[in-house]
Amino acid sequence: MRTIDNLLRPNIAKLKAYSTARDEYKGSLGQFMDANENPFQNGINRYPDPYQALLKERLSELKKINTESIFIGNGSDEAIDILYRIFCIPGKDNVVSISPSYGMYKVAADINDIDFREFRLDSNFHLNAQELLKLTDNNTKLIFLCSPNNPSGNLIEYSQIEYLLNSFDGIIVVDEAYIDFAVNKSLATETVKYPNLVILQTLSKAWGAAAIRLGIAIASSEVIKYMTRVKYPYNINILSQKAALEALDNFEDVEEMIKMIIQERDRLRQRLISFPFIEYVYPSDANFLLVKCYNARKLYDYLLKKGIIVRDRSSVPGCNSCLRITIGTPEENQRLIEQLLAYEFLL
Ligand SMILES: *Cc1c(COP(=O)(O)O)cnc(C)c1O
Repeated sequence: MRTIDNLLRPNIAKLKAYSTARDEYKGSLGQFMDANENPFQNGINRYPDPYQALLKERLSELKKINTESIFIGNGSDEAIDILYRIFCIPGKDNVVSISPSYGMYKVAADINDIDFREFRLDSNFHLNAQELLKLTDNNTKLIFLCSPNNPSGNLIEYSQIEYLLNSFDGIIVVDEAYIDFAVNKSLATETVKYPNLVILQTLSKAWGAAAIRLGIAIASSEVIKYMTRVKYPYNINILSQKAALEALDNFEDVEEMIKMIIQERDRLRQRLISFPFIEYVYPSDANFLLVKCYNARKLYDYLLKKGIIVRDRSSVPGCNSCLRITIGTPEENQRLIEQLLAYEFLL
């Protein structure tokens, strides 16, 4: 049984983090002459809080998670990269991911020189955890799951995740970027029970704040402690911290938007299925639909000419002839349907 300490790279286990001026003096009152900043106030002359205390308190209330179990990154992408950097020895360790899934897991593995092993989901994108485990060995440090999964849109069954949590002693990452659109609840509170579970969330999708680059990792305080040691000291700038607090205060509006997006998703799916040039639309627990077409490239090019940009996933293994369409506003979705009607007429 490997513990978190056994899993860490030895250089990280003994790392002494950079100590900022604001680590030495933690108060907020007084005359700051400790960090070589420009003293004239303009709203951005001081370094931001390296630990994002206010934001973590707010997230802690919203998600019912201790602040010590929360890491905030420059997008989820920073959290993904840091997980590789604290656990995986370049050229030696490996990770296992489901496939198809989010492209950044492999890019981050390649950057960090980590062997990336992919386990193909079945034709309906379901996971067989027992089979996935066969790809792991003593050098497997991380398993990446994504639920709801991108680009397939489905949730990974909890029974399969639970099986891995009970039989794999490395780190299990569950990326919940789309959880706010799903029928299932987040697994974030399970991190209390499983010290090797890391949940990734983001303000980029349901929260409507992709531009501020703010990702969240939720895990045992031990894992979070090392993630925090390795991050750039001031990884979240003050403008993003402020905008994130505002976005989180708006949660009632966000809930309304989520409801509307889900309604539109289900309406659009029913409508898309009825077109003769569309073979199938996969059920979705996210804010996009994976659409299997009879000629994906032709439809993609047609929509592009009409000024509607979707994502061509047809070269992704398991997604032959598939386009991924993000749910837009009701007006945008209506325009898409009208263009598809015109396309049908042309066929
Ligand atoms: C969009 C997305 C993210 C978000 O990444 P950020 O860096 O937080 O914007 C994370 N995971 C998946 C699977 C996504 O599709």
